[in-house]
Amino acid sequence: MKIVELRECTVPLQGDIANSLVNFSAHTVSLVGVITDVIRNGRPVWGVAFNSIGRFAQSGLLQERFFPRLKAAAVDSLLYRDGSGFDPDKVVACVMANEKPGGHGDRAAAVGGLELAIWDLNAKLAREPACQFIARQFNNQPIQDTVPVYAAGGYYHPDKGLGGLANELRQYQDLGYQDFKIKIGGASLTEDIKRIEAAIAIAGSGAQVAVDANGRFDLETARSYARELGQYELKWLEEPGDPLDFALNREIIEHYSGVIATGENLFSCADVHNLIRYGGMRADLDIFQMDPGLSYGITELARMIKIMEANGYSRKSAYPHGGHMINLHVVLGLGLAGCEAYPGVFQPFGGYASGCLDGQGRVRAGDAPGFGLETKPELKTWIDRLLA
Ligand code: MG
Repeated sequence: MKIVELRECTVPLQGDIANSLVNFSAHTVSLVGVITDVIRNGRPVWGVAFNSIGRFAQSGLLQERFFPRLKAAAVDSLLYRDGSGFDPDKVVACVMANEKPGGHGDRAAAVGGLELAIWDLNAKLAREPACQFIARQFNNQPIQDTVPVYAAGGYYHPDKGLGGLANELRQYQDLGYQDFKIKIGGASLTEDIKRIEAAIAIAGSGAQVAVDANGRFDLETARSYARELGQYELKWLEEPGDPLDFALNREIIEHYSGVIATGENLFSCADVHNLIRYGGMRADLDIFQMDPGLSYGITELARMIKIMEANGYSRKSAYPHGGHMINLHVVLGLGLAGCEAYPGVFQPFGGYASGCLDGQGRVRAGDAPGFGLETKPELKTWIDRLLA
């Protein structure tokens, strides 16, 4: 069994939305295909995946560095010992040859997209959903049927005001979501408090509303927000300050009794270890959000989870960033806490195939082999184009 072709295409994200720092209208994502010489039903078996959302497509890194290294590797050097599929650990080691440690950046997302395509391929070779395959590789525990999912949105639309925010959250409720996440930090604290109170009025309690500052605040601003937000007992306060400023994270936690969530911008085990060492994260309270598509893939994420557990944190504190089919399978397969969703935005990648949402705030994976990306029609169009 060998890889006969590696492909990548750059797909634009649909929609014109912005958080407090980033406008996504020009964002792109890499769709990655790994084609093998295994033929079933007259067609080659392939794996397909993407590098999550929010860090742009990585065509240059894939085409110039990582694909050539993988193509040059000896066939047997990439396989599981029993030859049943491609060992993601060996694949990552191969493509990371001659790369310096540290400074992970966009490289982590490029490798992440490729590594995830290997998992999709392996699950298809085994004719099973990726969550089953992942669970067998890592812990062999029975997987849950469904996991909690919240609707992430509440972006700033200045023309729509509080009424527009309320309408948006009611639409999510109509889709079956019970918990929400909205953006903060793109308006004044006074204005953000009004948005939070409007969201709580619709959700029913602060525990059903998370807020995300996208790393925008300096210490003084973060403290002001922490002081005001404590009273609402929110689901969590996400990335109040720069995600790599662990001392700042610790200081904010000292001023905030509620839950802090961070980690979507940590791309390696060393980063996570430093968050644990220096960031003040509280076991059984705070939330870790590392995203495999941005951080070298599932192999690295599983190691991050091991580091968490070795330091007294539970894998049920992990709520990966990126509301899409891939991370749903990862959450189920690794036994993590739950998923996010971006209803109606970040298409064609965001959200779940029809039938996955249960209408009561939970989401399940389908029976399709792999990550089931082909069961999402808007994404299948792009996959067909990639593999044509
Ligand atoms: Mg976030």
